Amino acid sequence: MIRYGQQDITQSDIDAVIGVMKSINLTQGPSIPQFEKSVVEYTGAKHALAVNSATSALHIACLALELGQGDWLWTTPNTFVASANCALYCGASVDFVDIDPRTYNLCPLKLEAKLVEAARENRLPKIVVPVHLCGQPCDMQAIFALSQKYGFKIIEDASHAIGGAYQGEPIGNCQFSDITVFSFHPVKIITTAEGGMALTNDDDLATRLGLLRSHGITRDPDLMTQPMDGPWYYQQVALGFNYRMTDMQAALGVSQMTRLTQYVAQRHEIAARYNELLADFPLTLPWQHPDSYSAYHLYVIRLQLDKTRATHLQVFEALRAREIMVNLHYIPVHTQPYYQKMGFRVGLFPESEKYYAEAISIPMYPTMSEDEQRQVINALREALDV
Ligand SMILES: *Cc1c(COP(=O)(O)O)cnc(C)c1O
Repeated sequence: MIRYGQQDITQSDIDAVIGVMKSINLTQGPSIPQFEKSVVEYTGAKHALAVNSATSALHIACLALELGQGDWLWTTPNTFVASANCALYCGASVDFVDIDPRTYNLCPLKLEAKLVEAARENRLPKIVVPVHLCGQPCDMQAIFALSQKYGFKIIEDASHAIGGAYQGEPIGNCQFSDITVFSFHPVKIITTAEGGMALTNDDDLATRLGLLRSHGITRDPDLMTQPMDGPWYYQQVALGFNYRMTDMQAALGVSQMTRLTQYVAQRHEIAARYNELLADFPLTLPWQHPDSYSAYHLYVIRLQLDKTRATHLQVFEALRAREIMVNLHYIPVHTQPYYQKMGFRVGLFPESEKYYAEAISIPMYPTMSEDEQRQVINALREALDV
């Protein structure tokens, strides 16, 4: 079976996790700051806060930016539901901006048009969440310029994108955002089993994220609002959660980080081979913006349905029948039943819906062999009858 994505676990990863299990600190120990430091050094962000998932990171990022009832968060429909759900956790409302047909990322032109309209109707968003789909960064410079003009905050959902770069600078440096979020789910670029991280250059946001991650409790006298009773004393100064990562996970993260650059380079090699071998197929291959160095979390092909007799479903099923576990990223969020109940309708974001009707994520992971790639290509050739 060839999966669309999978983790790479080495003996040194296993040793790192076992090392923690034999130590005194299974959680709240030294591996957490060590992992955070390695990501800070890699990305150049000032602060990094490890949490138990990217979903948790998105939630506390919204809270740290004071998203609440009556506020709007906008994101792309072409994402995992968590990019939108984070607003609903805070009692805020969600809306979407359709995608750019070339990058499949949130389109800055459509964003601007929607902002002009929202300004007239007095319902501008408080937060915009650009998602770096497949690891290719969004047009952050354009989105940042709009944030300056219209006064919204930016959370980059970089769940696909650790190890990538935008304009030659590492994704995660928060140059064009308030907070950037990574995911370390096993299908992503590096893994901690479950896990995520929130990065920021803003000291106050980092303090708030730290409180929200752990019950709103602090032992730092500078953050306390009442005098300290004694050395046992901690104080709850906000309403937080338990979104902490364990030290086993963080140690795995530290170990995985040592291979991040190599992983992304391997993904680029696999993408280059696909680009070459699929060039004559009736497919649209991933277009890459010259400003971007994708982390290549996913390799998405789009069927040119006017050039093949096979339907999207038939191609998908033919590949799965050959145990090539292709997938689809993503079902447009606004078409999910939960969002339909909130009033969204099919037809609202046609570019995302058109993409959904044609897209297939074919297998892509750093340890994928040339032979496995050939199997995928042969199965596609058969399914598309080329
Ligand atoms: C995976 C993913 C998430 C959620 O990540 P978890 O770590 O599983 O919570 C959020 N957004 C996007 C775009 C993702 O791909």
